[in-house]
Amino acid sequence: MKREDLLPHTLHAPHSPHSPRISYRLLFASAMAAGAALLLAVVLLIIVEFFSLRSALLEDSRVKAAVVADNLSAALVFRDSQTAAEIVGSLRASPIVIGAVLIDQDGARLASYPEDFAEPMPGPREFADADHRFRNSRLELMAPVMHQGTAIGQVYLVMSMSSVERRLGIYALSSSAVAAVALLLAVGLLSRVRQSVRQAEQNLRHLAHVDPVTGLANRNAFNERLEFAIDEAASFDENVAMLLLDLDNFKQVNDTLGHQAGDELLRMVAQRIQRSLRRDDVVARLGGDEFAVILRSIAERSEATQVCAKLIESIGQPFPIEGQDFFVTASIGVAFFPEDADDSRTLIRNADTAMYQAKLAGKNVFELFMPAMNVNVKKRVSLESSLRNALQNDELSLHYQPKIDLMSRQVLGFEALLRWHSPEHGNVSPADFIPIAEDSGLIVPIGEWVITRALGDLRVWNTSRRQKLHVAVNLSTRQLRVDNITRRIAQLIGESAVPADWLELELTESMVMENVHAQIETFQQLQELGVKLAIDDFGTGYSSMSYLKRLPIDTLKIDRSFVSDLPKDSNGLAIATAIVALGHSLGLTVIAEGIETTAQAEALLNLGCDLGQGYLFARPMPAAQVAEYLAANA
Ligand code: C2E
Ligand code: MG
Ligand code: MG
Repeated sequence: MKREDLLPHTLHAPHSPHSPRISYRLLFASAMAAGAALLLAVVLLIIVEFFSLRSALLEDSRVKAAVVADNLSAALVFRDSQTAAEIVGSLRASPIVIGAVLIDQDGARLASYPEDFAEPMPGPREFADADHRFRNSRLELMAPVMHQGTAIGQVYLVMSMSSVERRLGIYALSSSAVAAVALLLAVGLLSRVRQSVRQAEQNLRHLAHVDPVTGLANRNAFNERLEFAIDEAASFDENVAMLLLDLDNFKQVNDTLGHQAGDELLRMVAQRIQRSLRRDDVVARLGGDEFAVILRSIAERSEATQVCAKLIESIGQPFPIEGQDFFVTASIGVAFFPEDADDSRTLIRNADTAMYQAKLAGKNVFELFMPAMNVNVKKRVSLESSLRNALQNDELSLHYQPKIDLMSRQVLGFEALLRWHSPEHGNVSPADFIPIAEDSGLIVPIGEWVITRALGDLRVWNTSRRQKLHVAVNLSTRQLRVDNITRRIAQLIGESAVPADWLELELTESMVMENVHAQIETFQQLQELGVKLAIDDFGTGYSSMSYLKRLPIDTLKIDRSFVSDLPKDSNGLAIATAIVALGHSLGLTVIAEGIETTAQAEALLNLGCDLGQGYLFARPMPAAQVAEYLAANA
């Protein structure tokens, strides 16, 4: 895991200047503005319409009045009131005429329509120099009755405005309706937009805070809560414990069973963690197989260690997946606020360092952070970055240690052992850099280089030999997980142009047994290819006899810890005896490693051990010395 991934990220999504809440505001504002503009437009239109309808009515009425006044001219001259009444009465044809009066120049009424139209006529001033006025929903109009160029009377006409008002009403109603519909549509649209924006906002917030696989808080949420817990603890003078939990062999389960089963396992792990904690403790999945826990208001460090023990116990129980029981373990690192760190970044980093230490300590354990750990981690990080360039920079080489027939003392082959000379770190022991290469995945290209180089060297040494030597190469678990590893190895052997049975692969016992049912097929394929298989460091793991019988192996290699105290150590002797007996009963060759004394060699020979390897015969030597060694030990 990258260290920077652990550092708190600020959660931006829902609050950023580009967030949906802002665009929603914008939308709301623009819809409101559009609504207001629409309303104003409707009002303006109605006003304009009102004036145009009114002036149309005025024009129409003027024409009517002029026609009537024209017709009335003769009747007025002759003061023929009957004819005048008939002419005025003709106005009844127009429904908008409320009334009409004919007066002479002196203001005397000569005729009116209707006959009983008794409304008082306005004086000339009331019209304010115009020929009309609008009043009380009526239009009142005066038209002069002319005779030979002079006014001899007036026609007073009162028209109803109701038609104008009705038409205006209809107009206002329809345009308001259109506006209202438009507005409603806009508002409806807006509220739907608002709804979906809210939904999106909620989803975003959810996504930004929740791990989709386990439903636990995710890294973002965890960072926020850790900040909060630290602030709170600082104000109340309390302690916080942060636990970083990493599953030790999750990748294997994931690779063997597939991602769905892997996710299922993560969910079960999440549940077990939650069940081991108090309700208000925070649990998060930071990614991959890494979980984090915040314990607040911790009074004693032992409270945190108790939780760790509980977690390791609970996760260590079998996980039933697809009808099979799977076992995973967890390594936990713990750091305390304020003792180990006074900010969240450092707290996370220190918990990570402690977790790393737990892995180095053999996994399935927890470690409390100690400042000295930082030195180890720094060293490891620096080694890893140097190792990345070791292949290209030609810093790697192979040393060869002969394998001897204990009876005849003949050389039968060599074990290739990797050496790294780093300009920065000097000679680094494989015990130090192989685990780093394994964890970082660098072991895959490095391991391929080892096979190619070892087979290339062997081809040269074997050219002039009748009895061909073989070479043993150590293989890491990580290499076995490479897709189609058998085909890859076959390819390397093919490129080296040597027979496959010149190559022996050494796999440690713990590595073989760790996931034996998943690997049995690979071993069978390798055997079919012709490659020999040896179990290295045998006796240190817990081999299941039933598997040992089924595995297509050729050699058992007695671990040097059982050899070192031979022949005095009765325990070592008993184990060595048992391994030789077991190996032979399965038809395997047995070799002992780490033989330093003749007494050890003799004891092993007496037990029936076939081969030996160790400083007694030769230390691992550079390739350049092998030819000379072979010549001397022909
Ligand atoms: P291993 O495969 O068990 O290798 C045997 C180790 O015992 C070697 O240590 C060898 O130098 C050492 N040894 C040999 N004879 C004696 C002896 O008489 N006395 C004592 N005390 N030690 C003896 P080395 O070279 O430091 O390698 C350590 C381990 O590193 C190896 O253990 C092997 O597991 C790993 N390793 C080395 N080369 C490679 C490699 O190319 N690939 C992988 N994956 N692992 C490697
Ligand atoms: Mg070995
Ligand atoms: Mg060994």
